[in-house]
Amino acid sequence: MSPSTQMSIHDVSVSRLAIIMLAIVFVTGLFLVGFDQGQTFSLVYGQDAYIDAYLHELTHDVRHVAGFPCH
Ligand SMILES: [Zn+2]
Repeated sequence: MSPSTQMSIHDVSVSRLAIIMLAIVFVTGLFLVGFDQGQTFSLVYGQDAYIDAYLHELTHDVRHVAGFPCH
């Protein structure tokens, strides 16, 4: 009988809070890069945020690379 090798599998657990926080960061980033047309800044900047679209311009190249429709 040959000697057997023993492997140990560690139970790696990730807290639910970490998963929820990561999901919130992901969804927020997805919205800011892919869909924001001034909505975020309009909270403090008013209706002019839709005209200036600073966040849209800032993430413009990322939007194209990620394949989101833009213009
Ligand atoms: Zn574009």
